[in-house]
Amino acid sequence: MRIDIITVLPELLQSPFNHSILKRAREKGLLEVNLINLRDYASDKHKTVDDYQYGGGAGMVMMIEPIAKCIEDLKSQRDYDEVIYMSPDGELLDQKVANKISLLQNIIILCGHYKGVDERVREHFVTKEISIGNYVLSGGELAAAILVDAVGRLIPGVLNDESSALFDSFQDNLIAPPVYTRPEEFRGWKVPDILLSGDTKKIDAWRHEQSLQRTKERRPDLLSE
Ligand code: SAH
Repeated sequence: MRIDIITVLPELLQSPFNHSILKRAREKGLLEVNLINLRDYASDKHKTVDDYQYGGGAGMVMMIEPIAKCIEDLKSQRDYDEVIYMSPDGELLDQKVANKISLLQNIIILCGHYKGVDERVREHFVTKEISIGNYVLSGGELAAAILVDAVGRLIPGVLNDESSALFDSFQDNLIAPPVYTRPEEFRGWKVPDILLSGDTKKIDAWRHEQSLQRTKERRPDLLSE
């Protein structure tokens, strides 16, 4: 999967994809993340990418021209499945949305700043808008990093134990069961006996039961979806 991220702050995104699982995904050639500096597509010597809003009011708006040039340049090199704009009024990111995006080949992610992008960008270039939650961030970069992390780990072959993503929270509308590691006992607090029994059938049944119980307690809304 190839992800091209259009941003005015590429420095902000240099670190998130260079560690742990996403780093491995990139090294294995399963995920390619490119950071594209929108200022490279500005047409004046000051590299201007934003301007005052028509109608007045506080806050700058990202101009359509550099964004159009940038997206058209990328599109001239390959086909894209989606051009995603990170936006607080977009579709709320959840596991189902992440699952769907992880099946795509090439995507562009556009990060907004200031007041956001000129509406004509959304009308004519953007094919999907995603929000990471009902709050406003100062820019789309951290939201994009979250989307790439959630999606990247779902690409087949990225996780060592391929089945493990299937047992994470929100797959099948259930949240994950509790997990334990060594030691068996710490300050008298014991690991549940069943996990030490070696009986995989019983362990699976226990985990499923725990998932159900936790979902009922913590996220009953998931069970009615
Ligand atoms: N004026 C806009 C907010 C702009 S915030 C409004 O009220 O809707 C600046 C940029 O940060 C946005 O263009 C978007 O790219 C990003 N952003 C802010 N909150 C976000 C969220 N919850 N999810 C995804 N992106 C977000």
